[in-house]
Amino acid sequence: CVCPGSISQSVWEKTQRHPCYSAEAHSKYARIHLPVAPRCNIQCNYCNRKFDCVNESRPGVTSEVLTPELAREKFVWVREKVEDLSVVGIAGPGDALADWQATKQTIKAIQAIAPEVVFCLSTNGLRLPDYAAEMVELGIHHVTVTLNALDSEIGAKIYQFITYQGRRYEGKAAAEILLQNQLAGIRYLTGHGILVKVNMVMIKGINDHHIPEVVKKVKELGVFVTNIMPLIPATGSNFENFPQTSMKEVNELRNLCQLDLPQMRHCQQCRADAIGRLHEDRSQEFRMANRTGET
Ligand code: SF4
Ligand code: SF4
Repeated sequence: CVCPGSISQSVWEKTQRHPCYSAEAHSKYARIHLPVAPRCNIQCNYCNRKFDCVNESRPGVTSEVLTPELAREKFVWVREKVEDLSVVGIAGPGDALADWQATKQTIKAIQAIAPEVVFCLSTNGLRLPDYAAEMVELGIHHVTVTLNALDSEIGAKIYQFITYQGRRYEGKAAAEILLQNQLAGIRYLTGHGILVKVNMVMIKGINDHHIPEVVKKVKELGVFVTNIMPLIPATGSNFENFPQTSMKEVNELRNLCQLDLPQMRHCQQCRADAIGRLHEDRSQEFRMANRTGET
């Protein structure tokens, strides 16, 4: 785990309790993902919207979707039963910023009853320029942005479309807007002391050779760790027939990129409703539909 010199002591203290950002914390502390953000504003070719966001989720599993109020109740329930619950994350099942009002209300509701909680959020970054300042103000200190390409020709092969300011964009125009917003958003966040992790989906023949360049660029922007993930071709997605990237290939690329930035190697690509320590998933145990009166 790495402590970038520019972050404050309090953010660093929180990072020590964050199982994803600190290799030492990952077996000690538990996290809960609250699935309050079902919508998305882009279409990645590797995503099947019926399932969770690939940003932070394994495709092929559905989640319950909760209102902010139910999410707060779930947090209270889980906190009683799960030891060392330190992190609340919002990771879809769509994009946390495409449902920003629900994301924000959930964070505020939990902050009111548990000020010590560390919040993290994952996003495709399209709406970062709109909400980054509010995120900083809210006290979110850990943000994951999925950024797959710096080149709009490559991006056009990865993203089918984006919906932005009431318009739908496709091809290179879509990839260009997304990229500009991702870069501006990341720059803003790192400039305000937020720890930013960048996720990348390694897609053979599309962005695999390009990823080292992405890592160099995000390093320049102050990102402190990158997480290269294998493409898991989701049934029903446009990449359904693509080969799954092997962990051997992912690890070779991580080893190369490690020369520039620390690489996350223990990411579990958790569900949007994951609960527990990183190596466990207690999401079924804590489905709100199964709750028996505990709040
Ligand atoms: Fe799917 Fe996530 Fe991409 Fe949205 S950002 S299309 S939810 S993988
Ligand atoms: Fe942590 Fe990865 Fe799971 Fe997110 S998906 S909670 S970064 S282990």
